Amino acid sequence: MTCPICESGTLRKRKVAVEKYGVNVGEFEAEVCTKCGEQIFSEKEAARIESKITSLGLWGNPVDSRIYKVGGNFVVSIKKTVAKAMGIDKPVGVRLIPQVKKHQLIVELA
Ligand SMILES: [Zn+2]
Repeated sequence: MTCPICESGTLRKRKVAVEKYGVNVGEFEAEVCTKCGEQIFSEKEAARIESKITSLGLWGNPVDSRIYKVGGNFVVSIKKTVAKAMGIDKPVGVRLIPQVKKHQLIVELA
């Protein structure tokens, strides 16, 4: 079958290592493009991956969190699993990029 992404490579069945946010989830069967390397999972295999991610105590996307009031300021809580995957093991400086119209606040690690 021709790759639907690059439209020139061929898809071949292969076992591929799956990572989520830098955490190894395991090996799963995918159709892999010989040219661009795109990995396409069947619905069944994608469901197996999602259930493995859940059983590993990882998180879905987006991650639910909460903003707490501390004194006159506010603090965003980050789950331990997310912090670990991001390599955060102590307080770190970050840059906040407010996206007021989109109702988003991007947190960029310094
Ligand atoms: Zn391709």
